Amino acid sequence: METHSRFLDGRIVCVIGDITDFRGSGSGATAIVNAANRSLLGGGGVDGAIHRAAGSSLLEECQALRRSTLPDGLQTGAAVMTGAGHLPVAHVIHTVGPVWAGGDAGEPELLRSAYAESLRIAAAADLVELAFPAVSTGVFGYPPPLAAAKAAAAIGTHLAANGRPESVYLVFFQRQDADTFAQSCGLTPLE
Ligand code: ADP
Repeated sequence: METHSRFLDGRIVCVIGDITDFRGSGSGATAIVNAANRSLLGGGGVDGAIHRAAGSSLLEECQALRRSTLPDGLQTGAAVMTGAGHLPVAHVIHTVGPVWAGGDAGEPELLRSAYAESLRIAAAADLVELAFPAVSTGVFGYPPPLAAAKAAAAIGTHLAANGRPESVYLVFFQRQDADTFAQSCGLTPLE
């Protein structure tokens, strides 16, 4: 994975690559975030890629959550952690971002919550590194520049108050998406 840019003393690292390849630096427990849908039972985009790479145990864990604590699925803006099957990380944190409906339907607060809840769970589990995809900016249609600013603010707020995770990786599939993040996030890149 190629490093694109760094922010906040290097605690936010923007990289280009496939999030299913993320393995972290080896300095402690890691997780990737899945941009899931409310069913938790898989879907397209990054969700499909994560389930394919993790193998059937991930779907079985999600099905078990649906039978036990989440019979109605996961609320938009909430997050839940599972194992990671065959993925080279310890855990997957599933979150559901909002579907963009013009911006006046609570989408910014729901996107903030999706990032903040994922980070809260990662901190509670003492994870050292956490990698996010660009939640809601694919099929869910959230404009990437607006999502960048909201994600950066939510992550910055968490990191200012917490030592875990030490580092947050933002994984973009395409260079142009990483460029958009860097231009729109409102943070000053490290040299
Ligand atoms: P959502 O439904 O939350 O919008 P999507 O999966 O449709 O989620 O897209 C979210 C972002 O993830 C998009 O920018 C998309 O290009 C990107 N993406 C898709 N597959 C991968 C992958 N394997 N690794 C990293 N990013 C990915």
